[in-house]
Amino acid sequence: MEPYHPAMTIDGKAAVADRWIDVVNPATEEVIGQVPDCSRAQLDEAVAAARAAYPAWRDTPYADRQAALGRIAATLMTHAEELQRLLTAEQGKPLADALGEIQAGAWWIGEVAKNELPVTVTDAMPGQRSTTRHVPLGVVGAIVPWNFPVLLALWKIGPALLTGNTMVLKPSPFTPLATLRLAELLRDQLPAGVLNIVTGGDQLGPWLTEHPGIDKISFTGSTATGRRVMASAAANLKRLTLELGGNDAAIVLDDVDVDAIAEPLFWAAFKNSGQVCVAAKRIYVDARVYDALAAALVRVARDVAMGDGTAQGVTLGPVQNRQQFERVKALVADSRDAGHRFLTGGGEWDGAGYFVPATIVDNPPEQSRVVQEEAFGPIVPLLRFDDLEDAIARANASEYGLAGSVWSSDPARAADVAARLETGTVWVNSTQNLTPYAAFAGAKQSGFGVENGLEGLLEFTTPQTIHTAHAA
Ligand code: NAD
Repeated sequence: MEPYHPAMTIDGKAAVADRWIDVVNPATEEVIGQVPDCSRAQLDEAVAAARAAYPAWRDTPYADRQAALGRIAATLMTHAEELQRLLTAEQGKPLADALGEIQAGAWWIGEVAKNELPVTVTDAMPGQRSTTRHVPLGVVGAIVPWNFPVLLALWKIGPALLTGNTMVLKPSPFTPLATLRLAELLRDQLPAGVLNIVTGGDQLGPWLTEHPGIDKISFTGSTATGRRVMASAAANLKRLTLELGGNDAAIVLDDVDVDAIAEPLFWAAFKNSGQVCVAAKRIYVDARVYDALAAALVRVARDVAMGDGTAQGVTLGPVQNRQQFERVKALVADSRDAGHRFLTGGGEWDGAGYFVPATIVDNPPEQSRVVQEEAFGPIVPLLRFDDLEDAIARANASEYGLAGSVWSSDPARAADVAARLETGTVWVNSTQNLTPYAAFAGAKQSGFGVENGLEGLLEFTTPQTIHTAHAA
């Protein structure tokens, strides 16, 4: 791939900076492009452009904003192949998964556009009719991580723009290329200033979250950063949506069909090289099926092809960046040093690229790092339990509460366990299938607020009630 130097989009125009940030392909460690390091003055320009565009966008008929989302979806599909290649090169995921992300984003934004905002009318108060509708907030600052850079950006762009807000969005400095290209393609599809995309280093996120010209922050990333975002947003009481980390438990009951669940459960942990907020990060297995499931997971692992996401047949790409690579390797080393047994993986990779073979740790102690910490990489502990009550208690003993899953052939038993997990999302016999139609919210320290569903859409609005007096 030729080195790529995309510009930012500010006020509908290309904007470059005096300084540039390298973007590295995690499969080869080669620099594949550079993106502008946004200055504070340029961020001010982007926020001013979003503010200037806001009144006209707010007053644009709803149907026209729905149509704008349709144009974004169409642009994604028309340029899917180009965006897919950029995404694999910068993020590492296999080409098929990159295409899946672009297509899912296009579909998602099309579905979001079908929503109507509810209007509530009450005459309960004598002499007064009260009408509540949902009005936009103003300028939204959006901050996106590096695991699903395009899809997670669209989760914010779609509802924010549909409800009449304008936006300044910051991708992760590790994965800015596809997002900048998309913004470039959208320059003539949206009014200038409605969608601004800025890229920069460590200082840009804090500048955005403390900016007095921004009314809401929609953030996806780690819990540690989420805390900083919340503190910074307090200055002008910005509205907040925080989608944060997780340490999701999968609970496998004794009545499962081991061969049927092994493959979906394996990919629940290893899809996107484990870099999924709702990946299965701790797998609790009833002792009566533990050995059979362990053997079945090892069989699935044998067929995994790890490598550069552009190579034919590859299903497991690299870890996305060096920092995360070192973190995941440290967790593997910690398990090795502690004498844990590896059912598969656990080894080192000596070629170029940030590769970690899929690693399953055999029943490590509950207090070990690999159980207690969010790995966010291709390593997962398989944990044996004798008593279901104990498994539920262990699953819930976490500061996180993002999601979880229950695996059972008995729907009633599974539903009972699902209801007792202290998480915002629970799947039964599946994982990771989020939808534009249902609320996605993190419980405990996995989040604050909601994305997706009508609840998620309404987070980009504030209720306005108009009371009209009339003769009683
Ligand atoms: P991160 O918190 O390091 O970075 C996320 C984004 O925040 C990046 O764009 C980064 O540049 C920016 N940022 C960093 N410091 C900032 C600051 N002080 N102020 C404002 N912005 C700042 O997270 P990451 O490493 O990119 O992503 C991995 C984490 O994200 C994992 O914990 C994962 O579970 C979580 N995640 C959560 C969800 C979800 O929906 N709940 C989805 C994907 C990822």
